[in-house]
Amino acid sequence: MTPDDRDPPRLTQPGPRVEVVPLGRVNLTAAHVVAGNLQALLGLAARVGEPRPDPEEALVANRGQYDARVVLEELAKGVGAPFRLGVTAVDLCLPFLDYVFGEAQVGGRAAVVSLARLGGGRGAAGVPREVMLERLAKVALHETAHLLGLTHCRAAGCLMSFSETLERIDRISLAMCPGCRVDLARRRRRIVGPDG
Ligand SMILES: [Zn+2]
Ligand SMILES: [Zn+2]
Repeated sequence: MTPDDRDPPRLTQPGPRVEVVPLGRVNLTAAHVVAGNLQALLGLAARVGEPRPDPEEALVANRGQYDARVVLEELAKGVGAPFRLGVTAVDLCLPFLDYVFGEAQVGGRAAVVSLARLGGGRGAAGVPREVMLERLAKVALHETAHLLGLTHCRAAGCLMSFSETLERIDRISLAMCPGCRVDLARRRRRIVGPDG
């Protein structure tokens, strides 16, 4: 599926646009940091919802990881805010990828981000908490922008760069390049209206 095939519908109801869902044993502070960044940097009203367990359906027993696509299917169920962003501490993977920092239904409802590798993995206990939270904010903003329909960008340092390593996450900024900012504003207006 190409992202532009499935632009999200215009959403006119009032209330938060994004529900940030703390999953499993994830720290609530992390969820609040994510919600604050969505509000401040993407201009999307966000609130932290009720914590939920990590969906058992998504556990890939022989890998000890959770299949991100199955997590998204579970997150997307039910009524509530138009977009849902799960924040989890478990390690996420895809059938064809060893791990992902986050994943989104491009142009869909649900996205998820994981803290599992943002501290550098097992044994990398020396990463300051603020570094981890900044990485988390970058992945969360990137995945949420995918929900709005934005795709990957090749501009140096742009938030929408594809980042498959921590080094690359650390090199991108919390901001988008001018081209992506224009795209974001256009999609945001279409989805949530001028005041959303
Ligand atoms: Zn991406
Ligand atoms: Zn860009």
